[in-house]
Amino acid sequence: MAPTSKIVLRFPASIADKPMIYYLVKDFGLMVNIIKANINPHKEGTMVLELSGGRYQEGIEYLRRQGVIVQPLSEQIVRNEHRCIHCGACTAICPAGALYIDRPSMEVRFDDDACVVCQLCTRACPVRAMEVSF
Ligand code: SF4
Ligand code: SF4
Repeated sequence: MAPTSKIVLRFPASIADKPMIYYLVKDFGLMVNIIKANINPHKEGTMVLELSGGRYQEGIEYLRRQGVIVQPLSEQIVRNEHRCIHCGACTAICPAGALYIDRPSMEVRFDDDACVVCQLCTRACPVRAMEVSF
């Protein structure tokens, strides 16, 4: 990974209350910009961060030792509007509220600015309308 990168962190609820960002700054001298975050105590947490400076690689290794899955943000989620049948299945699992039912039209909307690229919707959608774009 490059010294300045956008990364996606995924982590279980069991470690969601650890002050990991604090340690990235304090112990590894990293500058951290939290772009998106969603931490639900009952589900997997997800964050999109921009990291720069400091001991970058050591910071990443620290996160991995805590049980965090770290991936570069080289992808985004797009919805194939032709495939979507507005069934609503994805709205129940989206942790960021990026997929929601519009009322009164009852159509499912996708707010890509709110998406934290957790990819849960790609598995939940029965017609594979939610796609990963690299
Ligand atoms: S689960 Fe798939 S088909 Fe259903 S509303 Fe979501 S994107 Fe559309
Ligand atoms: S990847 Fe899908 S489920 Fe995850 S935040 Fe984005 S829209 Fe929601």
